[in-house]
Amino acid sequence: MLREITRQKTDILAERAASILTIGGCSGGGSGDAGGEAGGCSAGAGGIACEKDSASGSVSQRACAFCGARVVLNPITDAFHIIHGPIGCSSYTWDIRGSMSSSSDLYRNSFSTDMSETDIIFGGEKKLSRAIDQAVKAHHPPLIFVYATCIVGVIGDDVRAVCKAAEKRHGIRCVPVQSPGFSGHKAMGYRLAGEAILEVVGSEPVARRQAHGINILGDFNLAGETWIVKSYLREIGVNVVAGITGDSTYEQLRRAPEAALNAVQCAGSMHALARKMEDRLHIPYVNVSFYGIEDTCASLVGIAEALGDAATIARAEAFCAEQRAACAVLLERYRANLEGRRAAIYVGGGFKAISLIKQFRELGMSTVMVGTQTGRPEDYEVIRDIVEPGCVVLDDANPAELERFMLDKGADILVGGVKERPLAYKLGVAFCDHNHERKHPLAGFVGVENFAAEINRSLNSPVWQYL
Ligand code: SF4
Repeated sequence: MLREITRQKTDILAERAASILTIGGCSGGGSGDAGGEAGGCSAGAGGIACEKDSASGSVSQRACAFCGARVVLNPITDAFHIIHGPIGCSSYTWDIRGSMSSSSDLYRNSFSTDMSETDIIFGGEKKLSRAIDQAVKAHHPPLIFVYATCIVGVIGDDVRAVCKAAEKRHGIRCVPVQSPGFSGHKAMGYRLAGEAILEVVGSEPVARRQAHGINILGDFNLAGETWIVKSYLREIGVNVVAGITGDSTYEQLRRAPEAALNAVQCAGSMHALARKMEDRLHIPYVNVSFYGIEDTCASLVGIAEALGDAATIARAEAFCAEQRAACAVLLERYRANLEGRRAAIYVGGGFKAISLIKQFRELGMSTVMVGTQTGRPEDYEVIRDIVEPGCVVLDDANPAELERFMLDKGADILVGGVKERPLAYKLGVAFCDHNHERKHPLAGFVGVENFAAEINRSLNSPVWQYL
């Protein structure tokens, strides 16, 4: 009965048409149509309008710029993160990632200046200054990030000046993150976080590089995934100088210029930083993804090739061949249960969506709907090339669109995050959590098994027969 009620058609907002593409058709969900062939082909590069502000009234699944900055910087484990704003901004992003730490747990707290009406009328700079003093006295952190939130942008507190004075007073790094929520959407926050990281990393190239040393950008050590990737790199003779920002510390970030290469996983959050590090520190970068067999192997071999050492390339190829064979045996166990089923994907960044499409293919499943919050034109070009005709592609979708296309396309399972879970469950569609709060690793060859097992458990749960 529930399914019958929710099958009523939802109209697509006219402003959203160019951000919805049906493969084999053209962009434009089409007002009132089932998504695709109707509507004008007014999209930009990648065949779809993306990297734009959300349409008013669309209730985007994206978070604000402050949240974007917070998710990128939060995994720096020995940093002290002070949110200059009302307590709500702080609680919204408290322990926001399932990032793990090999040392300090300081980052898992959320500290706030708890601004109230009086601070907003008379200014919050003195209160911020006192908060920094208190943090230094109680915790002696080597690095403090101060985040400006919406109200700070409105009243104009000079966060940079307060941080500069605190640096002088205490002799530690105190870095402002100019991230009022209204300054853009989540991807703007990523860029602002990148600016803050660059302030810590510095802009001075080092004289001697580590020939086999790399930085990993855009892996946040969710459920220990950075450690898994590091173990593979160790196998092929590659050392990780700094995780940016998974399981990172102030000292690691300071050593990042010693790396010979940057491996960029989450391009949406780290591409701008990688380009600046290439310009200023002369560190080249390659794009990687450690989700699924195909992309994990391509990434390990790609890193080895970029380092240009024949022995490392040979080790990477041999290691991947071994792991690929082991995974193939394992996936065979699941294929019988999953073959022919239809997947829908809605995630934050393009790289993850691309890897997931390939992972579903490895399981014998097809992707019938795929979308991202912050995908780039080049991501959508790849997506367009690897999905099958009829697949609906969405940028910056809203809940109504996700529900509509899941039902129209007959999706059996949705992969997404905390905000997408209830959409799937209320439609009686299975769900797999691939967001940053999760506590189980989905990266690397270990993640291949965890992912297949979770998809199998969710899709074939007996609960669906009772809806
Ligand atoms: S939109 Fe503004 S008020 Fe809301 S969480 Fe983001 S920074 Fe805070």
